[in-house]
Amino acid sequence: MRGAPEESVAFPLNTRMWDVAPTRTFALALHGGAGGRIEELSSEHRQAFEAGLASAYGAGIAILEKGGSALDAVCASVEQLENNPLFNAGHGAALTANGTAELDAAVMDGSGRAGAVAVSRYAKNPVFLARSIMERSSHVLLVDPSEQLVADWGHATVAPDYFITEARQRQLERILGNELTAPRHGTVGAVARDSQGHVAAATSTGGMAGQDIGRVGDTPVIGAGTYARDGMAAMSCTGDGESFIRGVVSYDIVARMRYLGQPLPEAVTETIRAELTEKNASGGLVCVDGDGRVVIAHNSPTMFAAFEQDGQLVLLT
Ligand code: ASP
Repeated sequence: MRGAPEESVAFPLNTRMWDVAPTRTFALALHGGAGGRIEELSSEHRQAFEAGLASAYGAGIAILEKGGSALDAVCASVEQLENNPLFNAGHGAALTANGTAELDAAVMDGSGRAGAVAVSRYAKNPVFLARSIMERSSHVLLVDPSEQLVADWGHATVAPDYFITEARQRQLERILGNELTAPRHGTVGAVARDSQGHVAAATSTGGMAGQDIGRVGDTPVIGAGTYARDGMAAMSCTGDGESFIRGVVSYDIVARMRYLGQPLPEAVTETIRAELTEKNASGGLVCVDGDGRVVIAHNSPTMFAAFEQDGQLVLLT
């Protein structure tokens, strides 16, 4: 098994956080994955990630500006990132040890509705499939749904090799040849609060590069990698998925808010410390609370993210 947390942590785990007070009635934040040292990226590569994040941010914020829902906004942003081959989601997803793409995605809105898919192989945009599972079925999580189901629900279907890029194949070869240790960067996610006061979260990933076939990470596990609850917060996570599952990280943050009355930044800090850093696990998350306060935090050396501060778009790469 590749990509275990203890393999990936060869650096100090220091939490960095941005805490942004609400300035409008709506708010949006995205992440493009937690990762290793910044020197790994060339400047062109970094600019390309920034352009991808900015355009995905634009797609989501345009919906919120028109009074649209947090759910529509997070899905629109994640769709763009899934279509962008740079990010580890949709086209360009990280590959399993066997060279296949097995995608995970989840959506949740603050009313308590949730939908998720694991080992998705045919939906061009797994985030929309997750949304249909939420809206069109009585289930929360489907594993390896058939191409027929995806088509019956009106989603674009693709052959499984649509997701596989040469860059990811080279990455996998290097991992299997022990030249590269569990690189990540690229899982994507979005959280939003809309002008009606509702929150929503969406996350999408190809998982950990070199993972075993059938491995499911935290992304589609509601309460681990993805969670939303009106009046509390919405969050989307990235990092060592097994640790996010064990620590029920998203829900742990909300539980601190609900039962201890902690504000979002304090809850995030304590959960990252207790469930990630003290367990030698790395990752990060983007969150928005019921008032539209945005918190971005990671203990990994880097995390790609997009959010607004003082009316300016901030891109972390
Ligand atoms: N959390 C994802 C997973 O474990 C991977 C990542 O965020 O990089 O599947």
